[in-house]
Amino acid sequence: MGFATGVLTFTRVITANAAGVSVGASASASFAGQILDADTLFRPDGQVTFATPAALATHAGQGAYDLESLLIHEFGHWFGLDHSAVWRAVMFPYAPPPGQFLGQRPSAEAPDGPLSDDDRTGIRVLYPDPNDTIDIGSIRGEVLPANPFALALVPPASPGNFVTGIFGAQIVAVSAGTGSIAASAFSGWTCNASTNSLLFDGSFDLERLPTNNSYLIYAEPLVGLVAPSDISDVFTDLCSSGGNSECATPAVDVNFNPRFRPSTP
Ligand SMILES: [Zn+2]
Repeated sequence: MGFATGVLTFTRVITANAAGVSVGASASASFAGQILDADTLFRPDGQVTFATPAALATHAGQGAYDLESLLIHEFGHWFGLDHSAVWRAVMFPYAPPPGQFLGQRPSAEAPDGPLSDDDRTGIRVLYPDPNDTIDIGSIRGEVLPANPFALALVPPASPGNFVTGIFGAQIVAVSAGTGSIAASAFSGWTCNASTNSLLFDGSFDLERLPTNNSYLIYAEPLVGLVAPSDISDVFTDLCSSGGNSECATPAVDVNFNPRFRPSTP
């Protein structure tokens, strides 16, 4: 049922919503948010062909997709990564065209060659290395409309649950030195663990950035190749470990135009 038109492969991840729960034959979860099970399925109906890197050229005539690219993306889901709207990221929701592999193949010298810095930062956030003293920078803020009345276009998620900031803007941190994207995130919410509530206040949080660098930050609406529906997994399960897994979220706000302030380049 998951194989709608255009879907090549997908991964189903089952995450514990509380300590002590299990699924199938899995051990009990030690903490909420622990991944208990993950399964990757490839389109089985013969509409598309997959090829290993060595067989890709031979099967170019059948429009074969590169199996290695697809598997690296799906393994990202195994580790808990959601989709990214950064084009070069492995977690971009669209596969490379048939016969192509984007970026570098993994090698003995660079086993993480296929990853972008956006992917690497995402993995560092989920699995922080306690001995890492470099990638510990954070940039936090809120995306607010110049005209607060513009938010009236976004319906509240539920009565009394008002939206006070832009929900679903893509926030990108660009390394000032290289001009490459270091990390991206989506704006929109704050989890308040003590009150077990969710605020739709336009917050964003970029974590685990290298501190030996400076960054340009920009916000953009999801109106390009990646639409809100392509990354809907990001906007469900917000604060799920806080008991808010069933909460309603507002629609992603695409009704804004980011602008540089006149004093900046
Ligand atoms: Zn995916």
